[in-house]
Amino acid sequence: MTLTSIADRTHDQTFGLATPAAASPDRVRIEAAPRAVDLAAAEHAGRLFLAALGIDPDAADAPDLARTPYRFAAAYAELLNPQPFDFTTFANREGYDEMVLVRDIPVHSLCEHHLLPFSGVAHVVYLPADRVVGLSKIPRMVDHYARRPQTQERLTVQIADALAARLQPRGVGVIVEAAHSCMTLRGARAGDAITKTSAVRGTLRDDARSRAEFFALVAER
Ligand SMILES: [Zn+2]
Repeated sequence: MTLTSIADRTHDQTFGLATPAAASPDRVRIEAAPRAVDLAAAEHAGRLFLAALGIDPDAADAPDLARTPYRFAAAYAELLNPQPFDFTTFANREGYDEMVLVRDIPVHSLCEHHLLPFSGVAHVVYLPADRVVGLSKIPRMVDHYARRPQTQERLTVQIADALAARLQPRGVGVIVEAAHSCMTLRGARAGDAITKTSAVRGTLRDDARSRAEFFALVAER
């Protein structure tokens, strides 16, 4: 395995994908465009936000609230900050051509409409072509796209498109199953509702038998 040069590193400028990196690199840096985070300003805004809702963070009878605006700001900064990682692939020397499934990958994201958490699991399948990916990179890719104001539909599509572009497999399938706290804790209070989304690319999209095999594989326990 070789490290690609700095010149091969690509920035994920728009939270979508930059152009696929050149000539089958073994390792590509995946990172979101740098974003200015002003924690002090966020803390100040958190203090105003609580005050506007009638909660005084400086109330004498609730001393533990004093640091809450800071913790509130820091928690959201963490939830909205995708961590860079190296997407590492290897030559598919043995010509493995069956589906590779990574299931029950934890998903923790924030709905962009309420900034409330939604969480659940992702199942990712790919059909290797010339390269296989280090398996730990698939959960890293899921987390990378989860840490931003998101919709579950967009998250599912972004994971599938990123793997299709970076790995150039014969096919990719992604299923996300998640509970949205904006739906379970408030509004409809639909306590046990789970939202399921899927995106398929390549063979899994074009070939009915492959697609059926994908959904059956994920449904198996
Ligand atoms: Zn929501």
